[in-house]
Amino acid sequence: MKIVMLGAPGAGKGTQAKMIAAKYDIPHVSTGDIFRANIKNGTELGKEAKSYMDKGALVPDELTVRILLDRVAQDDCAKGYVLDGFPRTIPQAEVLDAELIKLNDKIDFAINVDVPDENIVRRMSGRRSCPSCGATYHIVHIPPKQEGVCDKCGAALVQRDDDKEETVKNRLKVYHEQTQPLIDFYEKKGVLKNVDGTVDSEEVFAAIVNILD
Ligand code: ADP
Ligand code: ADP
Ligand code: ZN
Repeated sequence: MKIVMLGAPGAGKGTQAKMIAAKYDIPHVSTGDIFRANIKNGTELGKEAKSYMDKGALVPDELTVRILLDRVAQDDCAKGYVLDGFPRTIPQAEVLDAELIKLNDKIDFAINVDVPDENIVRRMSGRRSCPSCGATYHIVHIPPKQEGVCDKCGAALVQRDDDKEETVKNRLKVYHEQTQPLIDFYEKKGVLKNVDGTVDSEEVFAAIVNILD
């Protein structure tokens, strides 16, 4: 099963993608996580990606596509995957499509997690992430058992550099200009599924499972 998660930054794509990956035993592939791992390890790719991410801009398609195609060509992706944060532009979606066609394959579901802009800034300002295992929390909606500490691995939680209010506003603008058109793109392919992302994360997940099962 090959799944694409669509939705604004902070809509809950990552939260849902992790739950889908666990239930259906497929890898969760997040281009944002791949870039952040590279930044943490000080690679050249990380340095280049960071210059865009800090501004809330998109990393150029050419670089992003190369990273993503490399990742989905690995053995663990053979039985399917859930893509989170990719594609983010029409050209990215077209390249992915063309690659899949070569393999006589396709995206099965594009799940659009719908959350209005008004809710987004609040979601993002409360987001806390684990720099060690990648788990994500929200200080109000999905708090860790002990404040500031990851439930899964015990590391100290951090706020992402790009979750500051000014950067979030720019990311939302970029989302509407470049990413939202993908809703139409996947609608035309007949694989788009909309879910209400404003309800609590277990309810969102139940709606997604309903679609996938
Ligand atoms: P969020 O889940 O909040 O939307 P991500 O972790 O997906 O954030 O992305 C963080 C940043 O990484 C983006 O703002 C962008 O700079 C970069 N990025 C991630 N995925 C892509 C992509 N597919 N194309 C271009 N840039 C990307
Ligand atoms: P995205 O990957 O789309 O950027 P995340 O999954 O990282 O979004 O979620 C953004 C923030 O909102 C995180 O702090 C997360 O814990 C929180 N969150 C996720 N889903 C929900 C939900 N259904 N209701 C409230 N908060 C949520
Ligand atoms: Zn952790």
